[in-house]
Amino acid sequence: MWAYELIEIHLDSRVWTFGFDHAKMRAGLCDFGKKRISLSRYLAARYDDDEVKQVLLHEIAHALAGARAGHGAKWRTIARNIGYDGKRTHDGSAASDLAPIVGVCPAGHEFFRFRVATRPLSCGRCGRGFNRDNLITWHRRDVA
Ligand SMILES: [Zn+2]
Ligand SMILES: [Zn+2]
Repeated sequence: MWAYELIEIHLDSRVWTFGFDHAKMRAGLCDFGKKRISLSRYLAARYDDDEVKQVLLHEIAHALAGARAGHGAKWRTIARNIGYDGKRTHDGSAASDLAPIVGVCPAGHEFFRFRVATRPLSCGRCGRGFNRDNLITWHRRDVA
């Protein structure tokens, strides 16, 4: 309902549509080709109403600013004007919420994956190149 209301207010609702998608790595998407704003059904189910509204405003600002604007000054100005507070990054930060495979290095750095790694991996934050001392141990967790 937020989506339809915001599209009605800020965009042309005869042109832009809304739908849910199955993305796990990002919360929302503005598809300029299809003129469609979409939300990850997984993340929308986890976020509270205010957060969902913020994701929608982020994407609507993309629709208003145009594809070339990216997250540059033009997009930021528009986003701020329509009420996006920018407190949280909604692009590409979802893996840590949804990934079922969690890895930890001996120093405690965490890694999130959707698949089990096929070969041993060492922590890239503890040191460059493969090093057994920095080996990541993986475990599976339940993601609701
Ligand atoms: Zn964005
Ligand atoms: Zn580490």
